[in-house]
Amino acid sequence: MQKEMNPCYDVTIIGGGPTGLFAAFYAGMRDMKTKVIEAAPYLGGKLPYYREKFLYDIGGIEAITAEDLTKELEAQARTFDPTIVLSQLIETMERLDDGTFRLTSQTGEVHLTHTVLVAAGGGTLVAEKLDLPNARQYEGRHLHYKAESLEQFRNKRVLISGGGDSAVDWAIALASIAESVTIVHRRDEFRAHEGNVAQMRNTSVHIMTSSLLCGIHGDQERIYEVTIEHFDSGEISVLEIDEILVCHGVKPDLGEIKHWGLKIERGRVIVDAWMQTSIPGIFAAGDVAEYPGKLPGLIAGGFMEGPAAINRAKAYLEPYEDIKPIWSTGHPKLMAIHGES
Ligand SMILES: Cc1cc2nc3c(=O)[nH]c(=O)nc-3n(C[C@H](O)[C@H](O)[C@H](O)COP(=O)(O)OP(=O)(O)OC[C@H]3O[C@@H](n4cnc5c(N)ncnc54)[C@H](O)[C@@H]3O)c2cc1C
Repeated sequence: MQKEMNPCYDVTIIGGGPTGLFAAFYAGMRDMKTKVIEAAPYLGGKLPYYREKFLYDIGGIEAITAEDLTKELEAQARTFDPTIVLSQLIETMERLDDGTFRLTSQTGEVHLTHTVLVAAGGGTLVAEKLDLPNARQYEGRHLHYKAESLEQFRNKRVLISGGGDSAVDWAIALASIAESVTIVHRRDEFRAHEGNVAQMRNTSVHIMTSSLLCGIHGDQERIYEVTIEHFDSGEISVLEIDEILVCHGVKPDLGEIKHWGLKIERGRVIVDAWMQTSIPGIFAAGDVAEYPGKLPGLIAGGFMEGPAAINRAKAYLEPYEDIKPIWSTGHPKLMAIHGES
C-alpha cells in the first residue's frame, strides 16, 4: 500500500538543469521509471540566470538563447513522461535495508528510488551575506537578500547595497514605490546592463558609488540609520533608512548533500569513469561531478556524463544483463512518438 502511494523509481535525478533534463530523456530511452526533483520552482538550472544570452557551443545548434535551450531541454526531457517535481530541495538521503534510497526534501516529502543521479550543479544558490556584525539581527525583517514583493517597500526609505543587475533592477522597480531609494556600490561603475544603469540614472534613485555600507544602527524592532563610507573623500555619512536590500550576488552551495557521506572535494562530488560516486547506486554528472580530466562548467560535458551515469545505473539495477549504450535512431518508442515509420 505504502509503495503504491509512494512508488519507488528506477532513477531519481536531483537537479533539473541541462544535465538532469538530458539524463531524464536518456533514462526514458532506457525504459527506466524516472523522477526529476528540482529545488527551484522552474526547470533549467543555471540557464534562466542568463536567459537572453546566446549559446554558440551546443553541438549541432549554431546559436540558441538560454531561454530557448531550456524550452527544448524540457520538451525533450518530457518525451517519456518522467515525474517532474519542482520546489523541492532534497536534503537527506538514507539507504533502507532493501537497498532502496529514501530521499527527503525540505518540505518533508519522501521519494523512494533504486538509484540516484546527483545533477545538482554547484548546488542551490545562496545569497552572499552582508559582512556586518549585527546584520543577522535584522535579516528577514528589515534586511533582505531578495525582495519577496515590491509592496513590502511601499513608502519606505530603502537602501540597496550592490552594483550588479539585480541591484539596479530593484532600484528601478522601487523608485516609484518607496519613499526614497539609495543605491550604494563599492566600485565607481556599475556592473549591470548599460541600458538599465541609464534608466536608473533617470529616476529619483540616489546613487552613491565608491561607497560602502559599513554600519547598521537600530534597536530590536527596527533599523534607524546606516553609516556609509565614501572611498574618494574618506568621509563617513549617516543616512536614515527603514529597509536594506542586499544584492551582493549568490554563490552555489551543495547544502545537506555534503553530509551524505559522498566523497566531495572543493564542493564537487568525486566520480569514477562511469560517474559512480563513493556510494554504490548513487551517481553524479554535470557541473557537480569531478574526475581527472574534467572539463568544468560546460553543458556538453553534462550531456555526456548524464547518459554515462544512466547506463551505469541501468547496469546497477540489472547486473546480469549486458547493458550497452543505445541510440535514438531506430528506437521504437521514439519513432512512434515522432510518427516515423
Ligand atoms: C552566465 C553564464 C553563461 C554560461 N554560458 C555557457 C555557455 O555558453 N556554454 C556552456 O556550455 N555552458 C555555459 N555556462 C555553464 C552552464 O550553464 C553550466 O555548465 C550548466 O548549467 C550545468 O548544468 P547542470 O545541470 O550540471 O547544473 P545546473 O545548471 O547548475 O543545474 C543544477 C540544478 O540542480 C538544482 N539543485 C541543486 N541542489 C538541489 C537539491 N538538493 N535538490 C533539488 N534540486 C537541487 C539547482 O536548483 C539547479 O537547478 C554558463 C554559465 C553561466 C553562469
